[in-house]
Amino acid sequence: MIYSNNPRPESLKSLSDVIHIPFWLDDPAKPNPEPLLNQNIATDLLVIGAGFAGLWTALLAKEENPARDVVLLEAGEVAIGASGRNGGFLDASITHGFLNGLSHWPGEIAKLHELGLQNLHEIEATIKELGIDCDFQLTGEIDIATEPYLLDQFREFIELAKPYNIAYEYLDESQLQRVVKSPIFIGGLKRLDSAIVNPAQLAWGLRRACLAGGVRLHENTPVTKLEEQDKTVLAHTPHGQVRARRVALATNAFPPLLKRISYYVVPVYDYVLMTEPLTATQRESIGWQGREGLSDGNNQFHYFRTTADGRILWGGYDAVYYWNNGFGPQLENRPASFARLAEHFFQAFPQLEGIRFTHAWGGAIDTCSRFSPFWGTAHHGKTAYTMGYTGLGVGATRFGAQVMLDLLDNNKTERTALEMVRTKPLPFPPEPLRSLGVNLSRWSLDQADRHEGRENLWLKAMDRLGLGFDS
Ligand SMILES: Cc1cc2nc3c(=O)[nH]c(=O)nc-3n(C[C@H](O)[C@H](O)[C@H](O)COP(=O)(O)OP(=O)(O)OC[C@H]3O[C@@H](n4cnc5c(N)ncnc54)[C@H](O)[C@@H]3O)c2cc1C
Repeated sequence: MIYSNNPRPESLKSLSDVIHIPFWLDDPAKPNPEPLLNQNIATDLLVIGAGFAGLWTALLAKEENPARDVVLLEAGEVAIGASGRNGGFLDASITHGFLNGLSHWPGEIAKLHELGLQNLHEIEATIKELGIDCDFQLTGEIDIATEPYLLDQFREFIELAKPYNIAYEYLDESQLQRVVKSPIFIGGLKRLDSAIVNPAQLAWGLRRACLAGGVRLHENTPVTKLEEQDKTVLAHTPHGQVRARRVALATNAFPPLLKRISYYVVPVYDYVLMTEPLTATQRESIGWQGREGLSDGNNQFHYFRTTADGRILWGGYDAVYYWNNGFGPQLENRPASFARLAEHFFQAFPQLEGIRFTHAWGGAIDTCSRFSPFWGTAHHGKTAYTMGYTGLGVGATRFGAQVMLDLLDNNKTERTALEMVRTKPLPFPPEPLRSLGVNLSRWSLDQADRHEGRENLWLKAMDRLGLGFDS
């Protein structure tokens, strides 16, 4: 079945009490911010941005060499960006899924898959070792079909993955309905290399570990300009400067400090709803006693999962690009997307009619044309950056942080030898072509979903060029 996009009055009513704060950040455990920078300082390593990429960079740098001085500057508060507003799917893939990795790096995908699994296991080990209470659950993820053609795609997918020893399990309708009950779910594809997590609690746990390890964190301290000066880079902030031997840029979809990044990344807004906790009867009506992460197999997909206190997070589908890399808090509240999400939720789970949503929010995704991270250096190797995670960076940013440190320390490693690391995505064109291209891609993907996955000429041409658009 294809989701209808016309919200009924009941769906709109379910949204009437929402607050526009990411559910994960609406938590009394949220730490008080560290003081802003108000003097001039010097450091060995300056990390800019305290989402997952920046936190892992600072933590791993200290772990590797405790004597290295590390300063972490954050424009707002830790996890205020995508890291505190995502779905909390912590996936092993560092390539935005196996298929995307296979299509871009067929000769390398086995290694990339292995490195991704290692990354997931190391994240799990760190969480345990540091005692971070973040509801980490290695539950696996199920892609769900709502139309028969997707079942054929799932079977093809299993065949493609076989030579790489990746364990996927096909679920027919009755097997899937034993996991989760919905009148529109007709089959699924399950894999185990994925976890769910409370992302803000993970970020705050990493923050605590950084502080305990001696990282100097300043929140509410935006870097406004970077300047190369001889053997150092000078970072300007409103009330102080940092002179750094090395700089790691972890600013994701935010307006970049290096112009070159703006050619490769477009901010695309993704929207999310959270329900109130389900009653025992409501939970019974949908089954879903496990904590598996779920998502639709369509191009325009929803992702959904439960929380520790028994709510359902339901996000995705719309992926909105605003003219000229539009960015800012004013774009995080989009009533039309919330209404569509609510309507789709009740189409998937009509037995939950009457449940209310408590939180509705949006966030920017750092979309690049190959959907998976890229790296680069500037200021003669003194600055490195990583971005382009395109909606799958909760886990992959840790791998990205390791690569950034390799690049800054000029270490030749297994990671830096990867073609994925050595190459960049194709750039996006400037406006107005950028908007035209992105919106045409988005429309074409919607059309493909409505016509059994058949791609139009535009999508075929994009595929041939290795260019894509995703949230
Ligand atoms: C709605 C939504 C749902 C998502 N769902 C998932 C999911 O389920 N699973 C998954 O794997 N991924 C998901 N993602 C993507 C994932 O959240 C990101 O890939 C990941 O959090 C990126 O981490 P980051 O540290 O690079 O970026 P961010 O968390 O955005 O951190 C960047 C930080 O840099 C700071 N900053 C920016 N500019 C400056 C400056 N000039 N000076 C100082 N600080 C600066 C910002 O304030 C921000 O805190 C989702 C994203 C969104 C928006």
